[in-house]
Amino acid sequence: IPETLEDARATLSRVFGFASFRGVQEQVVSRVLAGRSTLAVMPTGAGKSLTYQLPAAMLPGTCVVISPLIALMHDQLRAANANGLAAAALTSVDMDRELTIERFRSGQLDLLYVAPERASQPHFRELLTRSPPALFAIDEAHCVSEWGHDFRPDYRLLRPLLDAFPEVPRLALTATADRHTRADILAQLGIREDGLVIAGFDRPNIRYRITPRDNALRQLRALLGEQPGPGIVYAPTRNGVEKLAAQLAETGRRVLAYHAGLPAELRTANQAAFVASEDMVMVATVAFGMGIDKPDVRFVAHAGLPKSIEGYYQETGRAGRDGDDAVALMLWGADDFARARMRIGEVEEHRQPSERARLDALANLVETPTCRRAVLLRHFGEHPPETCGNCDNCLHAPGVTDATQLARKLLSA
Ligand code: ADP
Ligand code: MG
Repeated sequence: IPETLEDARATLSRVFGFASFRGVQEQVVSRVLAGRSTLAVMPTGAGKSLTYQLPAAMLPGTCVVISPLIALMHDQLRAANANGLAAAALTSVDMDRELTIERFRSGQLDLLYVAPERASQPHFRELLTRSPPALFAIDEAHCVSEWGHDFRPDYRLLRPLLDAFPEVPRLALTATADRHTRADILAQLGIREDGLVIAGFDRPNIRYRITPRDNALRQLRALLGEQPGPGIVYAPTRNGVEKLAAQLAETGRRVLAYHAGLPAELRTANQAAFVASEDMVMVATVAFGMGIDKPDVRFVAHAGLPKSIEGYYQETGRAGRDGDDAVALMLWGADDFARARMRIGEVEEHRQPSERARLDALANLVETPTCRRAVLLRHFGEHPPETCGNCDNCLHAPGVTDATQLARKLLSA
């Protein structure tokens, strides 16, 4: 294994151009290279892709990557191909399917991306039977769990495929999974409990602010005034996005909109413009952001209550990936909670307890007079200090205000 790790480090710099592993990457990669199935829980931006792309570059045979979104797959493909890996995707929109299958069969591919609904079909299993993969990577693995915030039934169909290749290691990856969801992912994907690797969740440069919504437009304008850098404003509905985008554009800032109801070309163009810009505001539904690699996002605002703590963490996690100061502002209203409670009444009965637990956890984050970061991190199973000094509650705690005022008095005296 030490030799393998040395090879891994060499590959890391030769193929990917990185000087060192970050955080738990090394631990995950060495487990995978040793053939041990793993669930890696690593925050957005922590570098999850590398943990399967690097083994894919080293191991003989192909790494099959299960990924839920075609757009995500294509971003990953571009990045992998740019690093000189042989990567392709089998999707409904890729025309060269025959060629991809041929390349896979003849062992030319390092990475084969496939959506879960295709991966679970019998002819995909037959394809793999003839040339078994070196590794299964299951990206966005929280989608397999009803406890997760983004359950996709298709992910449940993967298990028979995985079980047909018991000797092929499985690497499940997710950014956001609380204790329940983690246990469920392990069970659903047949990974041993000791296969769990968790990276630290703290994003110390993000300043959390959670405040009642009195006048969303005024509150968001104030934020835009403070933050000249690029930012994302999440609105709950497509209509809300359109309206808010128009209103915020009146401030003179460059504002674009993004939601699933816009034509695909416009979505792509708006996303590209945002990624390239240094001051743009993107008003969007949560359809925006997955897989977008923009390090200098200075703020993420929620104009309404997010769906869950996991969703909130993932969405706010798009701010400040470069490590510089960033703000996460959530505006919430009592009506948001009322609506959320009504929606729970409409879902299938067996899902209601988990939905209710999700909403309670969110209410706890919103209502706490204590450190927001501590609540967030405890939700993900960490044991953080009681105060962080970089959230609204810590900064506005009476002691802190007094000290600031005292300092001001002393300075002006
Ligand atoms: P995630 O999927 O966990 O959100 P990505 O895999 O998209 O994160 O990686 C985020 C960014 O970090 C990418 O730009 C990637 O190139 C970069 N990255 C990954 N590993 C390293 C490393 N060891 N050193 C420096 N940058 C890295
Ligand atoms: Mg990723």
